[in-house]
Amino acid sequence: MTVGLEADVCVIGAGAGGAVAAAELAEGGMKVTLLEEGHWHDPDRFTARPPGMLAELYRDGGQTVTLGNPPIMLPLGRGLGGTTLVNSGTCFRTPSYVLERWQTEFGLDVSEDSLRPFFERVEKALSVGEVTPELAGANAAVARRGAERLGWSHGYLRRNAKGCVGSGVCAFGCPTSAKQHTGITYIPRARAAGAEIVTGAKVERILLDGGRATGASARLESGARFTVSAPIVIGAAGTIHTPALLTRSGLGGGSGQLGRNLSLHPATGAFALMDETVDMAKGVPQSFYVDEFSKEGIMFEGVAGPPSYAAMSLPLVGERHERAMSNYPRLAQFGLMVSDSSRGHVRSVGSRTLIRYDLTDDDLARFRTGLARMRELFEAAGAREVYLPLPSGVAPERARRRDLKLMAFHPLGTARADARASHGVLDGDLAVHGASGVYVADGSAVPSSLGVNPQMTIMALATRLAFKLLGKG
Ligand SMILES: Cc1cc2nc3c(=O)[nH]c(=O)nc-3n(C[C@H](O)[C@H](O)[C@H](O)COP(=O)(O)OP(=O)(O)OC[C@H]3O[C@@H](n4cnc5c(N)ncnc54)[C@H](O)[C@@H]3O)c2cc1C
Ligand code: SF4
Repeated sequence: MTVGLEADVCVIGAGAGGAVAAAELAEGGMKVTLLEEGHWHDPDRFTARPPGMLAELYRDGGQTVTLGNPPIMLPLGRGLGGTTLVNSGTCFRTPSYVLERWQTEFGLDVSEDSLRPFFERVEKALSVGEVTPELAGANAAVARRGAERLGWSHGYLRRNAKGCVGSGVCAFGCPTSAKQHTGITYIPRARAAGAEIVTGAKVERILLDGGRATGASARLESGARFTVSAPIVIGAAGTIHTPALLTRSGLGGGSGQLGRNLSLHPATGAFALMDETVDMAKGVPQSFYVDEFSKEGIMFEGVAGPPSYAAMSLPLVGERHERAMSNYPRLAQFGLMVSDSSRGHVRSVGSRTLIRYDLTDDDLARFRTGLARMRELFEAAGAREVYLPLPSGVAPERARRRDLKLMAFHPLGTARADARASHGVLDGDLAVHGASGVYVADGSAVPSSLGVNPQMTIMALATRLAFKLLGKG
C-alpha cells in the first residue's frame, strides 16, 4: 500500500547533518518530515560489549570496507543519531586555514566570523566542553608525559558530553547517555517542535517535477512504499550514501564530480607496554591530542578500549599477542590520523555502494613519518615496548601501503560544494546545482579534508542551511 505524507521540508537521514537541520527547521516553524533508514537505539540496551554493539549500532556490523591499496575499514553508524551515535565525541571547529582554502579554491562564503554564531549554537546545544585530566584517565597521561618531554604541542580535547563517567565505550553506545549525540539532543527537539520522524524508512529517490523538488519516495522494511510531498528536500544520508541517492534521483551529475573527491582521514593506532598501570578501559578513550605536526597533515588523538577491543586491535599474533594481552592493565594506546591528499570515489553497483580509495605517495609518507613519531612519543613517555601496526620486522620508514592496517572514520567530499556548477555538486548555499529545492547537509558537502574531526563542521553548516531556509541567514 502506498501512503502519502505532506511537509514543508523532507529531511533524509538523522545523523550529524540531518538531525540538526530537522530540529532547527521545525523549531523555526516549518512542517518537517525526517526519514531515517535505521532505528531508535534504546540506551538501556547498551551492554558496553563491543562485539554485540557493533552488530547493533553500525551499518553492516561495522564491516564497511574500501577497495584499493590498502583496503581500509570505514565504519558507519545507522539510526537516530547516525554516526554521532557511535562516535568519540571529539569537537573541533573547522580550522581557519581550511576555511581560507574553501574561500579561494571553491569560492565559498565561509569566513570564520560568519560561521562563528553557528558553531557557538551547536556547541551550546551539545554541551561541548574540555575533558578534565581526571576523566581523561591514565592513557591520556601517558601521551601527555611523552609530549611534554618532547616539547610537542598538545591538549585535552573538547567533547559533547554531559555527566560523562569515563566508562570508555563511546564507540559502542554510551550506556549513560552522557555523550550528547544528535539522537538524544536534536531529535527530541525536532519531535517536540512537531517534526514527523519515520524510522526504518529507506529513501529510494528524491522526487522532482521539471527540476523542482516535490518530495521523496521511501520503502519500509516491510516492503511497503510511501511518499512524502514537500517543496524542499534535504539529503543527509552521509558521504557514502548521498551520492547514490542523488544518482538514483537523476540529480547532481552535471559537473561530473558526484561521488568523487572522497577524503577519509585514514587512521591507525599503536600500543605501548608501560611500567605503570594504565587500565585504558577507564577514562574517556579520545580525550587528548598532540597537534605538533598537524600542518604536515599528521594528527595524534587518543584511542582506547576494553580488553575485547584491545584483543581485536593489537597488531600482534600468536604468543606475542597472548603475552601483550596478559599485560592488558599496562597497555597504552594512541591514534594517528592523516589529513589526506588521496581522493577516492563511491559508485553504486546494484543496491550496494562500492568505495574505491588508494593511498597517494604523499599520504604513505605521512604514515611513515607519523608512525616513527608515535614510537618517539611512547618512548619519551617511558614505554618498555612499542607495538606499531606493521608486520614484524618492518620499520616505519620502509612501510609499504600493504603493510599498513588502516581504518577511517571521517568520509567527506562526495557531493562537494563549489560556487562553480562546473566544479561542484552543490552551490555555496548547499543547493544542488541545476535543481530547485534540493539541498545536502552532511559530510558529502564538505569540499576537502579538514585535518580535524568533522562533526562540528557538518552540524554548523546544517545550522546555517536551516537559517537560510527560514529566511534568517
Ligand atoms: C567510530 C567513529 C568515531 C568517530 N569519532 C568522531 C569524533 O570524535 N568527532 C567527530 O567530529 N567525528 C567523529 N566521527 C565522524 C562523525 O561521526 C561523522 O563525520 C558524522 O556523523 C557524519 O555526519 P553525516 O550527517 O554526514 O552522516 P551520518 O551521521 O552517518 O548520518 C547519516 C544517516 O543517514 C542514514 N541514511 C543513509 N542512507 C539513507 C537512506 N537512503 N534513507 C534514509 N536514511 C539513510 C544513515 O542510516 C545514517 O543514520 C566518528 C565516526 C566513527 C565511525
Ligand atoms: S566515556 Fe563518557 S561519553 Fe564515552 S561512553 Fe563512557 S560515559 Fe559515555
